[in-house]
Amino acid sequence: MSNPLWRDLPRFELGHWPTPLEPLERLSEELGGPRIWVKRDDCSGLAFGGNKTRKLEFLIGDALAKGADTVVTFGAVQSNHARQTAAACAKAGLACHQVLSRQVSSSDADYESGGNIMLGHLLHAEQHFVAPEDATQYSKNLLAELKQNGRQTYVVPAGGSNALGALGYAVCAQELQQQTRQAGIELAHVIHASSSAGTQAGLLFGFDQLGISAEVMGINVYHPDPANLHARVQTLVAEMTTLYADKQSNTPPVVNVNHAYIGEGYGQPTEACVEAIRLVASLEGLLFDPVYSGKALAAMIDQVTLGNFRDAEDVLLIHTGGTPVLHVYRQQFA
Ligand SMILES: *Cc1c(COP(=O)(O)O)cnc(C)c1O
Repeated sequence: MSNPLWRDLPRFELGHWPTPLEPLERLSEELGGPRIWVKRDDCSGLAFGGNKTRKLEFLIGDALAKGADTVVTFGAVQSNHARQTAAACAKAGLACHQVLSRQVSSSDADYESGGNIMLGHLLHAEQHFVAPEDATQYSKNLLAELKQNGRQTYVVPAGGSNALGALGYAVCAQELQQQTRQAGIELAHVIHASSSAGTQAGLLFGFDQLGISAEVMGINVYHPDPANLHARVQTLVAEMTTLYADKQSNTPPVVNVNHAYIGEGYGQPTEACVEAIRLVASLEGLLFDPVYSGKALAAMIDQVTLGNFRDAEDVLLIHTGGTPVLHVYRQQFA
């Protein structure tokens, strides 16, 4: 990646980079297998942090370059993406509309108004709650209405996951290359929670361009049919390669989606996930969330326990954030 085309793309600075790479000494000792590391993208520095910050640097940069004054984005009710987008828009001086689908059936008042909903409101986003089946039509109407009122709109897709946003994780791949070199470890196994596919696609594209052959295991936390996530990652990597590749690789990167840890479905914490969050809180003083990063954590712990990595290897978990929802799920931890 000597002179990547995307180096020159407009970017709006939002985060604290590089995020730390830290060893989890006590967890590694407890599990007695490979050395475990965590990439702290929960510490991205934007309104409680998370993995959407990296994508939004490119997306908001593009919105500003195109003269937008209003951003419309989408997510589930407790979307971390929607929160980070609201924060990014506030910093950039853009109006922000969040179209929030009620995808998780919850009668809990906290789910409807706490966590990311409270924060999005505080960050001055206009929030639109819709039934999942109405989201598309509602968004069309909203965009038409905003245009009619003279607003210059810019649409940020759910999760910030288009080819442009996913470049944020090619940047992360570069950071990881430098940090693992400095720490003297080999970048062999990377695990993270995967849903809108941008994180996984960006990492795969970045590693491919850098000539790093690390395995990336995306833990599906969202799609009832993992084939949809697999296809989505593949399509995004192909798009990124067409648009931004410095060099074309001979073999497209291997897409690895693991569906074993989703439990009942999106937003439904599993027992193993709650256990894993408790364990790592007590051993490392580190917090994970029960929707995304906690399921990836549980997956990593299970993979280590199953003996799927050699003891001499290093395993790297990307902490993608999400902790602002912990309070919403407090009954799970009572
Ligand atoms: C959005 C999100 C993910 C998934 O990242 P994608 O790029 O959408 O696949 C993982 N963890 C957290 C906390 C998130 O908010």
